[in-house]
Amino acid sequence: MRTNDGKSTANEGTLEILKRLGVLRTGHFRLTSGRHSDRYMQCAKLFEHPDESAELCGRLADAFAEKLGARGRRVDAVAGPALGGIIMAYETARALGARGIFAERENGAMTLRRGFKVEPGERVLVVEDVVTTGGSVKEVIGLLQDMGADVAGVGTMVDRSGGAVDFGVEFIPLLAVDIASWDERDCELCRGGVPIVKPGSRDPSKG
Ligand SMILES: [Zn+2]
Repeated sequence: MRTNDGKSTANEGTLEILKRLGVLRTGHFRLTSGRHSDRYMQCAKLFEHPDESAELCGRLADAFAEKLGARGRRVDAVAGPALGGIIMAYETARALGARGIFAERENGAMTLRRGFKVEPGERVLVVEDVVTTGGSVKEVIGLLQDMGADVAGVGTMVDRSGGAVDFGVEFIPLLAVDIASWDERDCELCRGGVPIVKPGSRDPSKG
């Protein structure tokens, strides 16, 4: 696959792609929490680039196809929580030849709207761009299981849980990233006079 700048992504590592697109940045950042960090991640920046999005979702689909057995039970649908999981579910579903759907909050509860549904016994993958606590993903798993679906696994671009999350099903992250943060008073970068950046308008940490 070739990107808009003519560069091939096929042989490029996941981390390299995320760095090149500015999804994962290094420097000196003030997070919304007020804490300082030398790394910052904004996963939406990946989905700004359809070629790379398709490439990485394809890698995740390949990993699942291998894990679940390519000739075994097929995946019927891929579901993601809005917003981070919408494009991911779509692209991963395309790669697996499955349906792509998304869940969203209605009165605080994760639900399937817009005519989306899964049938009892359907095999469904749940995907999310970034997993931190895994809260949204767990809600989607519960929702699908309540509808009788067989949740076959969870996939994510970036696992920020530090390995702490357990979904009770096969969990495949393309990349594990640990972003440490610290109090301003303890910041070596501040002490070294490195200019600080306050990226985005919201804390990048999410479900
Ligand atoms: Zn600092």
